[in-house]
Amino acid sequence: MPTYYVKLLKKQKIANDTMAFHWEKPEGFEFIAGQYCKVTLVDPHKTDDQGNERAFSLVHAPYEKDVETATRMSDSAFKQVLKNMPEGTEVKFGEPHGDFTLHQDEAKPAVFIIGGIGITPVRSMIAQATHDQLPHKMILLYSNNTPADAPFMDDLRGYADENPHFTFVPVMTEAKSGEWNGESGLIDAEMLKRHVSDVNVPIYYLSGPPDMVQDMRQMLVDSGVHEDYIKTEEFSGY
Ligand SMILES: Cc1cc2nc3c(=O)[nH]c(=O)nc-3n(C[C@H](O)[C@H](O)[C@H](O)COP(=O)(O)OP(=O)(O)OC[C@H]3O[C@@H](n4cnc5c(N)ncnc54)[C@H](O)[C@@H]3O)c2cc1C
Repeated sequence: MPTYYVKLLKKQKIANDTMAFHWEKPEGFEFIAGQYCKVTLVDPHKTDDQGNERAFSLVHAPYEKDVETATRMSDSAFKQVLKNMPEGTEVKFGEPHGDFTLHQDEAKPAVFIIGGIGITPVRSMIAQATHDQLPHKMILLYSNNTPADAPFMDDLRGYADENPHFTFVPVMTEAKSGEWNGESGLIDAEMLKRHVSDVNVPIYYLSGPPDMVQDMRQMLVDSGVHEDYIKTEEFSGY
């Protein structure tokens, strides 16, 4: 199984407690939008019981120049090493994996119901679909506490401007009144129906912390959606 040594190009804060890391794309590195890689630190100066490896979805689409990962920061040794990593440091990327990727049947809309950092694979899918001018209808319900907690809002607004088939619905659960005039509160069946006319038609994509993914799956099943039409990516560790 191929392993790629990948060099850190740049890191930046992109939302509250959230950082993005840009990596040089190695020769022969190919993936499908929505896939993830195992990232392993090489000789880190500290480690803990959780080890030196984490799975990260690839934020950038295949057509984009470099490889990007993004994560909520924590006190784990892995994340502290990542946060302080000098540009030019190499880490190991495993082969890209996963079937949390856009379906082929363009007659079926894609509805993404996403919590926080779970947006990473979805930004990639929407970027690639917009770039390729795919005819898929796509609706994104994107939940965060406040706008300051929400990564990639500008990118997503840009895709909505560019792509007539893409509807972006940001949802804030804790924004103060006056600070936010979009959808607010937890995503539920009522909110879904406001944006999806026939809930039984689309393929659903759920990504984020496991609790949220479980809640959203239950909400869809209770709304009559068949399990076969629900794809999930659970970000273990949150
Ligand atoms: C397919 C996939 C894609 C993913 N993509 C992303 C992504 O794009 N971005 C992203 O941020 N994350 C992603 N994740 C999750 C990521 O791999 C990490 O699990 C997550 O970021 C948490 O890592 P951490 O270092 O902060 O916490 P960890 O150190 O891994 O700890 C995770 C949890 O376990 C607890 N814990 C720590 N040590 C112990 C212990 N010894 N015993 C018991 N509990 C302990 C912690 O309190 C914490 O709640 C993905 C996961 C999967 C499976």
